[in-house]
This record gives sequence, structure tokens and C-alpha cells, in this order.
Amino acid sequence: MRRQIFLAAILCAVPQAGFAAANSCHAHSTFAVVVHGGAIDEKMDGTARFAVMKQALQKARAALAAGASSLDVVEQTVEAFEDSGAFNAGRGAIADAAGLVETDAAIMDGDGLRAGGVASMTALKNPIHAARLVMEANRHVLMVGDRGQAYAEKLGAVAVPPSYFVKTGKVERSAVPEHGTVGAVALDRCGHIAAATSTGGFDAKIPGRVGDSPIVGAGVYAADDAGGFSGTGHGEYYIRYSVSKDVADRMRYAHQSLDAAMKADVFGTLAPLKAEAGLIGVDRHGNVGMYYNTLGMFRGYATDRETPVVAEYAGPTASQPRVKH
Ligand code: ASP
Repeated sequence: MRRQIFLAAILCAVPQAGFAAANSCHAHSTFAVVVHGGAIDEKMDGTARFAVMKQALQKARAALAAGASSLDVVEQTVEAFEDSGAFNAGRGAIADAAGLVETDAAIMDGDGLRAGGVASMTALKNPIHAARLVMEANRHVLMVGDRGQAYAEKLGAVAVPPSYFVKTGKVERSAVPEHGTVGAVALDRCGHIAAATSTGGFDAKIPGRVGDSPIVGAGVYAADDAGGFSGTGHGEYYIRYSVSKDVADRMRYAHQSLDAAMKADVFGTLAPLKAEAGLIGVDRHGNVGMYYNTLGMFRGYATDRETPVVAEYAGPTASQPRVKH
């Protein structure tokens, strides 16, 4: 049985090796990938973030065109963001109120609703890879704290010393919270949707606080019959309102379009609560949405029809529509 599952998995997935792999998924011509690098509330120089995002989107687009699985693409895209140090995730994760980095991440496979997550990790180089390892181990979904980290390391996650992180020691809570959570969502040519989110959490969070990013249905969700989502913003609200799952349910049960469902949560539910919110999503038709109620959101996408587009403040919030609802 295990062997069959494994064989099925490799038939619809592409070996890692930086996306440069054999083609394996050509059932459809449609594919899409969307990323975010955090909702933001003040003007900032986005040069470094844009460079990383553009490169990652180009790589992801080429991989999806060649038949890569959405799962591999979202993991490797988020991993590149984590390694860059330019975002509030991985190497660039902001410190908690005690001056220490504590990261959260999760990944979800819309094909079978598999998921893995890690929270309050203090020494992982790539929390999103640890999340994938937890998912593939196929026993638990969410591992937390030192003991969860020890388990992730046992599965193969790489640990780094505190000096690896570039923003340790900053403890003040700023008037304008520092954001920069990262996320990626993709639809592959098999028709499978996957989503991944990774963060250092909220500005000067109390040590031990876990946000929405590693919580399935809050800051991350993917289901092939609806769509995939990754959130950024005030995580407590994403958890309380089950934002990502709510958007998927609007599409699934109320037959709302991706745009209508995402806007309902970002503007209809979260904005009146003054909850800073940004959300990216992809539906099963390959439509992309990127909505936020903050000043801006680092965001970008690419599809089989469109080359990479990136924006920060004004600019596109959706791909060219494919299916009229
Ligand atoms: N959503 C993240 C959290 O609450 C923070 C962010 O996106 O800026 O942990």
C-alpha cells in the first residue's frame, strides 16, 4: 500500500533538484503560482524583496510549465524567501519580545488535504521544509516548541545557531507593526493545488505565541475542489475567523468566485474589525487573487498565460480572469 502511494506520488510530482527535473504532469495546460511577502502598513524600500520574488516566480513558472507539482513549487518558493533574509521568515525572521527568533510555518496539499506544520521553532533554517517533513512523515500535523523541533531535526530539518538570524535582539513593539510573512500558492498541471506560509510572527510577540501561519484553515489552506490560500496580517483574527477555510467554503458551498470569496473576508469581515489582512489565493481554474486592507502587500504571480508580475502598493490584485462565474 505504502509502495503504491509512493509510486502514485512520484508520478504526479517532480524530483527536487531546484525544479530542474523530468516532466511528469501534463494533464492540463493551465497552471498558476502566486506569492506574498507580507502585508505592510508603511512605505518601505522593497528592492530586495522584489528581486527575490521575481526570481522565485520565474523559477516557479518554468517548473510548473515543465510539470512540477504544486507542492514542490510552493515549498521551494517559500524556502527561497526564507533563505534570502529579506522577509520576516527563516533567516530574516523578526525576534519576539525576548529578542529571540521563533518561527512558524505550514504547508498543505490540496490533493487529499494532507498538511504539516511547525510552530515556535528557534533554530530551524527552513521551517517550511520542516513542515513538509512533518507532513510526509504522515503521523502528526503540527509540531511545536523544543520537542517538536527535535522531532523535525530527526526527520532531517537543518538546525542553525542564533547568529544565523539577521534580526535577533530587536524587542520593542513598533507603532507600525513589522510584517514580511511569506506565502506561496500554486495550481499545477495535474490540477492539484498546494499552499505554504512561513513567518517569524507578529511584531514583538510574547514568547510562546503562535500565529495563524502554521494553523490549517487560518493562515494556510488548500483543497483541490475549491482553492489554495496563504495569509498575512494580524494572525489572531485569521485564527478566530478561520479565514482561509472560510474563503474556501464560500467557494465550495456558496459557489462564490475566488475574487468574491476573498474580498468578502478581507474587506467584509476583517476590515471592519480593523484587522490588518492580506490574502493570496488560486482557484482550480487557475485564477489568482491578491487582496489586502493594509497600505500595501508584497505580492506577485505568474500563470501559463502571464509572465511574472510583482506589486507592492497600487497595482494588480488579480490575474486576467479565465472563467466567468
Ligand atoms: N500573520 C503573521 C502572524 O500573525 C504576521 C504577519 O503576517 O505579518 O504571525
